[in-house]
Order: sequence, then structure tokens, then C-alpha cells
Amino acid sequence: MSAAVIIGASHAGVQAAASLRQAGWQEPVILLSAEKDYPYHRPPLSKGYLAGEKDEEQLLLRAPDFYREQGIELRLEDPATSIDPVARKVVTRSGSFGFEKLLIATGSKARPLPLPGAGAQGTFTLRSMMDARALRDGMRQASAAIIIGGGFIGLEFASTAIRHGLDVTVLEAQPRLLSRSLPAALADFIRDRHVSSGVRFRFGDQVAAFEVSGGRVTGVRLGDGQVLAADLVLVGVGGEAETALAQSIGLDLAAGGIHVDGHGQTSRPGIYALGDTAAFHNAYATAPMRLESVQNAVDQAKSAATHIMGGNAPLVAVPWFWTDQYDLKVQMAGLARPGCTEIVRGDPADGAFSVLQLEGDRLVASYTVNRAADHMASRRLISEAPAVNVALASDASVPLLRAVKAAA
Ligand SMILES: Cc1cc2nc3c(=O)[nH]c(=O)nc-3n(C[C@H](O)[C@H](O)[C@H](O)COP(=O)(O)OP(=O)(O)OC[C@H]3O[C@@H](n4cnc5c(N)ncnc54)[C@H](O)[C@@H]3O)c2cc1C
Repeated sequence: MSAAVIIGASHAGVQAAASLRQAGWQEPVILLSAEKDYPYHRPPLSKGYLAGEKDEEQLLLRAPDFYREQGIELRLEDPATSIDPVARKVVTRSGSFGFEKLLIATGSKARPLPLPGAGAQGTFTLRSMMDARALRDGMRQASAAIIIGGGFIGLEFASTAIRHGLDVTVLEAQPRLLSRSLPAALADFIRDRHVSSGVRFRFGDQVAAFEVSGGRVTGVRLGDGQVLAADLVLVGVGGEAETALAQSIGLDLAAGGIHVDGHGQTSRPGIYALGDTAAFHNAYATAPMRLESVQNAVDQAKSAATHIMGGNAPLVAVPWFWTDQYDLKVQMAGLARPGCTEIVRGDPADGAFSVLQLEGDRLVASYTVNRAADHMASRRLISEAPAVNVALASDASVPLLRAVKAAA
């Protein structure tokens, strides 16, 4: 049978199935999911869903009928357990499926913190709908939360938990927040917004253990022996690509993910990898890297589907990402490079400003707070790479798209 088998039914896998059908793939499409829930939007798990602003139905990626209507065989709770690349078949919990094309969209998983007491009741990670349900219930019963890791997911949870009346402390091992993803000015702005809402931060501490009594977490013990009390602990120390199946068949890896080209093709022709699990050399990067974003998952899926159908649309999109915390919509575009110069557009005191990073006079990355127009303009300027007029770009009253040097 000349099926397309897709392992993983989330942003990348579902988009790949839809794009294959849209592009005219006539053969079966088998979409394997390890989860029991219909595929859903993952970003709201740490935002609107936890805050009680969105229910589960609003999170669905597609209406359940979509799969049947499109002739996509969505198999929930039927994870792939092995791949035979020679016989070209995937074995799952329930059976085996032959493939002509295989798409691995297994995403990433929450990085564990294997310390004494890990896994006690009241400790959580946040990756899936099941995790989010458990965390939402846990939040309702808790009074003091410790968040290990000041990354996006931890901070989004902090902003929700404090509004729910919990006492919230964030432990960040680095000297400042988001040191790998945001410029200091913006990271400090976000920290201050949390502090003004009552969130406490501790920087530079190492966590040595979870304190547990009667199977329930009661706090965390730091490296210096100090114990911080909590009845809820969220571990948010990043994600790891789910590459076990790819490794079992010897696919090349890079940057912790499955190495792919601009079409999403792995080192084995006819086998693709997409989304969080894939690492590729983005046009805006200096080496292969994994991008953990919805935009990357969706765009990579579209490129792979086009390639499978004989087309040529390598991924060239400018990477972008967002996070919502309190009344702040933070949007990022492009990839920072060492040695960039920085421009701040607007006044952080107004709660709306942008930080632009330039290499020479070209915009390479932008970070906007409540300035959606700057974000959209940045994506275009990063992609088209005109020379930026620094004086105009620094003036928040000038539309960013006009802040370019006149052609000579
Ligand atoms: C809480 C949270 C908030 C986020 N917020 C944002 C945001 O604001 N903006 C943004 O751009 N991105 C955000 N992200 C990241 C974004 O959700 C991911 O980049 C995106 O989900 C990647 O999609 P994916 O399909 O590659 O992988 P995933 O969404 O990780 O899905 C992979 C799927 O494959 C399944 N799977 C794994 N192994 C198997 C197997 N053997 N067989 C079958 N199925 C398998 C997994 O169970 C999972 O369902 C957030 C992520 C989380 C967890």
C-alpha cells in the first residue's frame, strides 16, 4: 500500500496530513497519535486554558469530522513503536502500516529533573492536554507554587497562578530570565511586570531535591540546604526532541533533533521529519537548529508535503514566536546573532515598545511588546533585508516599514 504514514498528530503532523490532501495526495494518509485527545493547539495550554478563558473544545486544531471528511485515518492512542525502513512499515501498538512516505512529527517532551522526590503528587510538567488538566486541578487546590525554570512556559504559568491568588516563586538557575531567547532589556521588563504582580524570583539557585511528605510535595530543597515551602511545583526546564524512533533506524541527528534539509527530508530519502523534533539549517541561522514554535511546525509540514508531491518549496520563512503574560503580548521574529547592535523603539514605561537587533544596517531580529504592527513589519524587513535607517527606526511614531534608507 502506498500510504503516507505520519507519526505524531499535533501542529506538524496534522498540517502535513491536511497539506498532503490539499496538494492532491490520493493514497491513504495514516496519522498516528500517542495521545487520547483529538489534536489541539498546544500554546493555550499555558495561557487561556489554564486561566479558564478557553475550554477544551476551543483548543481543537480541527473539528473531529475534518479527519473523516479528508480521508485522514487519525488513530488516537496508537503510538508507533518501531519502524522498519527496509520493509517500509511502521509498527504501532495495534498493528502495522506500510508506507511509501513516512513523516516523523513526534515533537518534543518536557525535560525531566531527576532529583530525589521527583514525581511526587503536586509536581507537574506542562506539555500535553493531560498535563494541563492535572495542573489546572492542582492549581485550584494549591496555595503556594514554586516554578523551577524561568522560561516561557514557567512565566506564563506564573502570570496565571498569581492571578488565581497563589503565592508564586520562580527559581531561575541563570542570573537573569530568558538569557538565550530575549535581550536583557526585555527580559528585565518582563521580570518587573511579574514582580509588580507579586511574583518572587530567585536567580542562581540550584535545586537539590523535592521535599515530600506522605507522597505529596511540600517544597523544594536548594543546593545550600535551604527549604522553600510549596504545595505545587511546576518543572519548566525546557524540552527535548523525541528522537528515539529516528535514532533506532539510524537517521542523522543534529542539534539534538533529526537532521533535515529545507524540504524536511531526513538522511533517508522518503522519510521526513517536521516540527519540534527536526533540526535544519534555517536561512537565518548559522548552523542547524531546532525551532520549537507553531509557525516552524506548520511551515515545515507544508514544505514537506509540497516536496512529497514533487514540488519545490523549501522552508525560507522568517522564524517567529510569541508569549502572552498578563496584558503583555510579546512577539519575536528572526534569530539573534552575536555582536548585533540594539535599538529600543518606544518607552518601556508605556508598556509598548520594541527592541530591534541589527547586524550592520540589516534587521536580523525583533522583539515587540504590545506593538503588533512592529512585529509584522519586522518579519518583512528581516526577510527582504533592506538597509535600515537607525534614526527613523528609533522613532516609535514612524511606521517601521518606512524606516529604511532610500535606495542609492
Ligand atoms: C505549554 C506550551 C506552550 C507553548 N506556547 C507556544 C507559543 O506561545 N508560541 C509558539 O509558537 N509555540 C509555543 N509552544 C511550542 C509549540 O507548541 C510547539 O512548537 C509545537 O507544538 C510543535 O509541534 P509538533 O507537531 O512538532 O510537536 P508536538 O506538539 O510536541 O507534538 C508531537 C506529538 O507527537 C506525539 N508522539 C510522540 N511520539 C509518538 C509516537 N511514537 N507515536 C505517535 N505519536 C507520538 C506526541 O504525543 C505529540 O502529540 C508551546 C508549547 C507548550 C508545551
